[in-house]
Amino acid sequence: MERRKFVIMMAAGSGTRMGADMPKQFLELNGKAILQGTIEVFLKACPGISVITVLPEAFVDYWKTYCYKRNFTCPQIIVKGGITRFHSVRNALERVPEGALVAVHDGVRPLISEKLVAEMFERAESVPALIPVIPCVDTMKVLKKTRYGETEVLETVPGAEADRSMLYGAQTPQIFHSEVIKEAYSLPYDTSFTDDASVVDRHGKKLSYIMGERLNIKITTADDLTLAKAILSLR
Ligand code: C5P
Repeated sequence: MERRKFVIMMAAGSGTRMGADMPKQFLELNGKAILQGTIEVFLKACPGISVITVLPEAFVDYWKTYCYKRNFTCPQIIVKGGITRFHSVRNALERVPEGALVAVHDGVRPLISEKLVAEMFERAESVPALIPVIPCVDTMKVLKKTRYGETEVLETVPGAEADRSMLYGAQTPQIFHSEVIKEAYSLPYDTSFTDDASVVDRHGKKLSYIMGERLNIKITTADDLTLAKAILSLR
């Protein structure tokens, strides 16, 4: 039997890198909030999916009013975010039952295609954890600021100079069997947990990979927003 589908829409970040008055997930792109556009991709790709939206506490009422005014009536389970992304995901997982498929997606990645979302949910039935990745086109460097404020190259990421073809960037949605990710998130928080795959990996579960999409950008800076507008105008 097919597993019930959930998406945890991560939107509890403060979005300070955008330099706007409100977190970037609420800024408009093509006449609607970025977060609304992102949720709509999942609703179209997987009709009947349950949506869990994770919000900053201070914006819960704002979002409810926004959806009401826009007649964006899709049922959403609203969850308050935590101090880090890890804590936000952990809060949301409390609302997901065992035996389901759960996608965790950044609410600021509205350009993902419905096709990839649908394909990923289909494949995720048979693997515990499915992660979209794209090849790195740049050589990655690890930098640190010296005491004098200069930037010093510590090293090229191991393996990258020898064979850049081994390096990939992980995107979202990352899709898991819910019992696997729920168990993994009982681990204590670690600053190296920068995505859900890293938590599940630490828990010792096998990760499977699928080619992501270069245009599935995480809208983080003002430049990203300009880029997203340009991409949408071409679609
Ligand atoms: O900060 P970062 O770029 O990794 O954020 C990725 C996603 O996680 C964003 O959609 C952001 O809103 C969300 N997030 C969250 N709770 C936090 C921090 C980030 O839901 N405490």
